[in-house]
Amino acid sequence: MANILSFTPIDEIPKIHHELKEAFQTGKTRPIAYRRQQLLQLCYLLQDNLERFYAALYADLGRPREEATILECSGTLLEIKDAYDHVEKWAKTEKSPFNLLWWTLSPQTRKEPKGVILIISPFNYPVYLTLCGLASAIAAGNVVMLKPSELSPATAALLAELMPRYVDPDLVRIVNGGVPETKKILELPFDHILYTGNNRVAKIICTAAAQHLTPVTLELGGKSPCVIDPSCNAQLAAKRIWWGKLLNSGQLCLSPDYVLVPEFFQDQFVKVLEEVYCELHPTDPKTSGQMARIVNERHTKRLKQLLDDTKGTVVFGGTVDIAAKYVAPTLVKNVKRDDALMSEELFGPILAVVPVRDLDEAITFINSIDHALTVYIFSNNRGFKNTVLDRTRSGTASINETVMHVAANDAPFGGVGGSGTGYTTGKAGFDEFTHFRCTVEHPAWVEHTPLAGRYTPYDAKAVAR
Ligand code: NAD
Repeated sequence: MANILSFTPIDEIPKIHHELKEAFQTGKTRPIAYRRQQLLQLCYLLQDNLERFYAALYADLGRPREEATILECSGTLLEIKDAYDHVEKWAKTEKSPFNLLWWTLSPQTRKEPKGVILIISPFNYPVYLTLCGLASAIAAGNVVMLKPSELSPATAALLAELMPRYVDPDLVRIVNGGVPETKKILELPFDHILYTGNNRVAKIICTAAAQHLTPVTLELGGKSPCVIDPSCNAQLAAKRIWWGKLLNSGQLCLSPDYVLVPEFFQDQFVKVLEEVYCELHPTDPKTSGQMARIVNERHTKRLKQLLDDTKGTVVFGGTVDIAAKYVAPTLVKNVKRDDALMSEELFGPILAVVPVRDLDEAITFINSIDHALTVYIFSNNRGFKNTVLDRTRSGTASINETVMHVAANDAPFGGVGGSGTGYTTGKAGFDEFTHFRCTVEHPAWVEHTPLAGRYTPYDAKAVAR
């Protein structure tokens, strides 16, 4: 049975922050053995309760079990395990490379925890985007205040129930709530904030963080384009685009948002998109159990409005059932730069096809929009691929594939410009929550070398100019 989400009383929030700070100052989170034990507990939290998490994800998002397994829970377990396996190596003090000028100082970099970390996560992948950041912060030796999204209440309630049963409450505390609770949290001084969500709220987070000069990692969204080279394997491109597009009903930061195709190729590619869609969804996704639902009525209405306002040609789909929070997978062609579908990140199961003259126009189109989280290139031509990579900017880029790159957790994942700043996953995630503290130690015998000439009164002969 799904838990009921209760919000944390607002006046308890400063007390929770204070307790976390005190726990951090005892130094108990620093030993690697402690960090590894807590990471293991985090794995058990998820592993022991997988069925309950699947049920919560279904309650929040109508998430099919396969999607809850592959993209949410398995990915999270792999990420926590990666931190568990590598924390010792990542946390090792590093010696600087030998430098003849400064070797007597023996410079070293200590990997120190930053302190009290705030993690604010969104509704769309409420397990992965909450627990992966948490694993990185624990691996780095910090204490953490977690604020899950109130829009995925069943998952937030489950996390609140399980966390103190598995993980040391001195280390992690969950604060549940909406805007008033988050506002209260943001008044407090943190040592780092990880915020995953939309750009509008990101500005609120940054403004609050600035009051305490708190560093911020932002994992945001944006409109991720697909660029189609007409000589690519169109069938495979269409299959991978639809897969990425319809995951979680399009509510994925990496969701392919629109497709740029040469004008002469548009109808041919749209036909392939139609055929492939029919293969992937032979029965109505509204009743097949193969597609998640939109998170709430507000977002369903937002998508309906976009479909009402588009001047593009709806090829198929277009129907919306607000009460059922269902938007049919929809393909729209002949979409122009000033169309409603280009006005914001779609974050729903709508795919817009934009015809362009040539690759130059496609690149100009991409660059006229704030930097995307990712750019998808479908081509087998090295020149085509390199031209897109060299002349656009995005957090990540993916060739002949969609979404899968998020699983490559040895590589840093992050946005650029409007799609975010900083990195998560793997070592890059650990580094984000780590202070690189440079230390030097100078032996007394250096006083008998020319370096002694640095003291006053200056002797022009002793100091090299
Ligand atoms: P959301 O509505 O769940 O909000 C995210 C968090 O912000 C929640 O915890 C919420 O409580 C908090 N919040 C909301 N309003 C607030 C306010 N006024 N003040 C303070 N906090 C507030 O989710 P969302 O923002 O709609 O998430 C979807 C967005 O996140 C999309 O743009 C998506 O692309 C992006 N996203 C990015 C990544 C990434 O890794 N880059 C991952 C997932 C989602």
